[in-house]
Amino acid sequence: MSIIDSPKKLPSVDRLLNDQSIIALIDTHGLPWVTRQIRISLQVIRDKVIAGDSLTSVELLETISHQVASAVQPSLRRAINLTGTLLHTNLGRAALPETAIAAMNEVARGASNLEYDLKTGKRGDRHTHCATLVAELTGADSAVIVNNNAAAVLLTLNSLALRKEVPVSRGELIEIGGAFRMPDIMSRAGCKLVEVGTTNRTHPRDFEMAIGRRTALLMKVHTSNYEIQGFTKVLGESEMADIAKKHEIPLLSDLGSGTLVDLGHFGLPHEPTVREVLDSGVDLVTFSGDKLLGGPQAGIIAGRSDLIEKIKRNPMTRALRPDKLTLAALQAVLHLYRNPDQLAETLPTFRLLSRSLRELEQIADRIKPAVSEFCDQYQVDLEHSHSQIGSGALPVNTVETVALKITRPELRRPGKALAQLAGSFRGLPIPVIGRITDDALWLDLRCLTDIDEFITNLQAAENP
Ligand SMILES: *Cc1c(COP(=O)(O)O)cnc(C)c1O
Repeated sequence: MSIIDSPKKLPSVDRLLNDQSIIALIDTHGLPWVTRQIRISLQVIRDKVIAGDSLTSVELLETISHQVASAVQPSLRRAINLTGTLLHTNLGRAALPETAIAAMNEVARGASNLEYDLKTGKRGDRHTHCATLVAELTGADSAVIVNNNAAAVLLTLNSLALRKEVPVSRGELIEIGGAFRMPDIMSRAGCKLVEVGTTNRTHPRDFEMAIGRRTALLMKVHTSNYEIQGFTKVLGESEMADIAKKHEIPLLSDLGSGTLVDLGHFGLPHEPTVREVLDSGVDLVTFSGDKLLGGPQAGIIAGRSDLIEKIKRNPMTRALRPDKLTLAALQAVLHLYRNPDQLAETLPTFRLLSRSLRELEQIADRIKPAVSEFCDQYQVDLEHSHSQIGSGALPVNTVETVALKITRPELRRPGKALAQLAGSFRGLPIPVIGRITDDALWLDLRCLTDIDEFITNLQAAENP
């Protein structure tokens, strides 16, 4: 076995391309791409050898296969969400039910009646596949589906309030996750935001005073990621609906998460359902497909059919429309809501939300030995903690959960060690994402579903 200890001893690219193990790679990935990967590897190795390192020719081939293996990994990969945030925007929000995955599969492989009316043989409307179900489940006249809820808000404002004024309570001028700020969306939609009331209190007379000739609609925004407490007053939907009716302008409510069922069934406080909000006199609601609804990324606009028709006529609707995979998945998820009593079994979001502490404790007991082995310098304890819903659904409410708390009690400042350990978890074949708080790395087990896979995944790695 030859030792490579100077750049001169490095094999040429051509020689490597004729090596038996590399020929196999060329069969799969093609000559140009493998050649590029070999050049990248050789450059790295050359730099190391110049710096005084040496390696065997076998190690050199291993380095190249490693480079190839890591380069073929897709950058978008699945991960295991143990952050304690159930609907984590950065981790892709809701897990889809198998029926939705099957529905996507069904339409992905070939043609479908996406915009084709099978009765008449004429052009159809892609929105109807889900709009009919949304109407059935919420009591809305009609609905339109777009790419996400931000798009739903933008499109609704642009369709109904272009170059006009929209009064919103100062207590509801939200920012969600950085880029979504209500004032910015208003200006991009081409409307003029009229701020009403004060941060903590808005009265009916404040709206009355703000309404003028140029007012297009009234808007209410669900304060998704905070709550103003203390000496506060905001107008409820029906109070705002009375004012809107009196002035003959529509009322829009951006619900953010929105829910079709009473969350009380899942141990959460009651949030008005989309049906209740529409019943209270709101003309249009907007909500997300992948928050508490538990479906794919989508935005749903539901309500009065004349307003929905106006929105559909806006050319922006075409630019914001969802694709067939989304519509297939959303339709399958909405179907499950026809049997709300079964949702805790049929819909992953609610299934995860309704897992008992007993079940989570059993999971903790099962995985603890493997986790302890993976983190051999650390102390691993089972702890009760709190999971959040996330994505702006129920900002101040949490559900009790069970977590593994990983600490280094002998270190006065364990920050660096914990960050490194968190990095090792992220570096696993299936990345595991935890949360660092209070001088500990927490693995919240509420969203851990495949225990055997989790243990195999840990064992596949070398110790950090
Ligand atoms: C989450 C949220 C949005 C944005 O919805 P996306 O689905 O993330 O586009 C808009 N408004 C409110 C109130 C929200 O909570």
